Amino acid sequence: MNAPHHDTAHGHVSLVGAGPGDPDLLTVRAARRLADAEVVVHDALVSDAVLSLAPATAERIDVGKRPGQGVAQDLINVLLVRLAREGKRVVRLKGGDPFVFGRGGEEAVALAEQGIVCEVVSGITSAIGAPAAAGIPVTYRGLSAHFTVVTGHRQRGETPVDWQSLAKAGGTIVVLMGVAQRAEIAAAVVEGGLADTTPVAAVHRATTGEQTVVRCSLRELATAPIESPAVIVIGAVASLNVQSIAAAVEH
Ligand code: SAH
Repeated sequence: MNAPHHDTAHGHVSLVGAGPGDPDLLTVRAARRLADAEVVVHDALVSDAVLSLAPATAERIDVGKRPGQGVAQDLINVLLVRLAREGKRVVRLKGGDPFVFGRGGEEAVALAEQGIVCEVVSGITSAIGAPAAAGIPVTYRGLSAHFTVVTGHRQRGETPVDWQSLAKAGGTIVVLMGVAQRAEIAAAVVEGGLADTTPVAAVHRATTGEQTVVRCSLRELATAPIESPAVIVIGAVASLNVQSIAAAVEH
């Protein structure tokens, strides 16, 4: 069940999902790998509470990519390969799930190309965990039979997102990295046929002590006070808050 993770000849790299922020949302395996780590290579989004689960003696390397700074992806790949070759127990710690954006797949391929097989430890993605923390189920019988997780951040060389088709498909649209582009996104999905009264919820720093939730309509999204990092939920489920329903029943 718990695969051996320390190969002394080649070191060991675990690509670990840190979940949305609250350390209680780590998997048991993620917590074990952190407790055993000699080096933790982490992104900017990983919370201090999660990082503190690594031994005080473990080296921590912040390769966080914030706009305009951070370490280039090629250098991160080279760093991981070098640490693995040094025989270290390396945890590559990424926010949410390592294979949902954040280029975890590319890092796994870069390691594999050097003959280093990394272990992948899935995490709770913010695409589901952030809405849940605001009381929003991404699917709900009668409201939404599917959800799409999409990046709002367009980079050169990336496949453009067909917002109009997403709007036509119905279901819940979950946008990551979309705060800066929210005006364009709202306009595109309205052009695709969504009513401008469609509910929207934006969950900022979900599951941390700094969590805030903004609820509005598509029409208001462009000017709503939303700060990054946030997950933006578009669709009928965005008006739900299962926690507030429970609170109303109690009183
Ligand atoms: N691999 C990550 C996503 C990386 S992309 C995952 O599975 O969650 C980074 C984006 O994730 C941010 O721009 C934001 O949209 C979202 N995000 C990650 N953690 C978040 C959190 N705690 N609260 C709100 N949004 C978060």
